[in-house]
Amino acid sequence: MLYNRLLEERIVAYKSHGKSLSYFEQANTFNERKKHIPAMKQVHSQVLQDVARRLEKAYQFFFRRVKQGETPGFPRFKPKQRYDSFTYPQGGYVLQGNKLKLSKIGVVKIKLHRSLEGSIKTCTIIMKNSCYYACFSCEMELEPLLPSQELIGVDLGLKHLAITSEGETFMASKHYRHSERKLIQLQRSVSRKKKDSHRRKKAVQVLAKQYEKVANQRKDHAHKVSRKLVNRYGLIAIEQLNVQSMIQNRHLAKSIADTGWSQFVQYIVYKAESAGRVVVQVDPRGTSQQCSECGNIVKKSLAERIHRCPCGYTGDRDINAARNILQRALQVS
Ligand SMILES: [Zn+2]
Repeated sequence: MLYNRLLEERIVAYKSHGKSLSYFEQANTFNERKKHIPAMKQVHSQVLQDVARRLEKAYQFFFRRVKQGETPGFPRFKPKQRYDSFTYPQGGYVLQGNKLKLSKIGVVKIKLHRSLEGSIKTCTIIMKNSCYYACFSCEMELEPLLPSQELIGVDLGLKHLAITSEGETFMASKHYRHSERKLIQLQRSVSRKKKDSHRRKKAVQVLAKQYEKVANQRKDHAHKVSRKLVNRYGLIAIEQLNVQSMIQNRHLAKSIADTGWSQFVQYIVYKAESAGRVVVQVDPRGTSQQCSECGNIVKKSLAERIHRCPCGYTGDRDINAARNILQRALQVS
């Protein structure tokens, strides 16, 4: 394996003349190597260079930490299964419809999870749970958004991803709900199986694949909804998530929701930042009990979906919460 070979050469060079090899010194040897190692000709040159670049990064990281007085582990030789991705940094791949042509590998059919925007900069092939993924990083020229005076409060939910102070609801898609239910079933089926059994190992594999699928669908949805909100509103008020209580949460269904929320909030924050929109995160405590019209506290159990206040305001529990979140944000800012 090239990575281990290059690492070995660096170590030998250091031991024999006290000097390590650089990325360029190593990358410059590739043409010579190809003459002697036919297998290397089968791999696109950019991919080879990327291997050398990764090693360089591992070295830089190591020495940076040494300088900071830490005692990091020396870059390791990688066992085969650890090195499970490779990158085409500039060229060597062509994407046409649902076919991806990879230099020296051939044409593979791919399933695009969402359409690519902007121009593709790199293409990384990742192997995970015995599936191959092609991951494209794209650069986008964002059209500047028109300024917006509109304000919105957003409440995060379990059934729906988000509900706004205007009453707009962003449901998770049917596909997602279905995949999520299946995930929970699979989780149960794993825990029913005997430890270290062959059937359990198989079930774990299926579970891991399903988890990946759910994660992709969730990501996709979070991207779409956050984009919608940022495009439309000048100020977005959203709850400050309590990360501490999330980490303590061991229940699967709840932990899925938590991951989804923090991802969603993160997407809103970075999209807003690059679009010049304002995001205010507020303490959400009591937002579902307080009346967004008069400020009174109206106690209600989780099952009560309607907020009814003696002041005359009646409304959906979550919309009331979203209105409170917006008001708190306006008090802060
Ligand atoms: Zn009231």
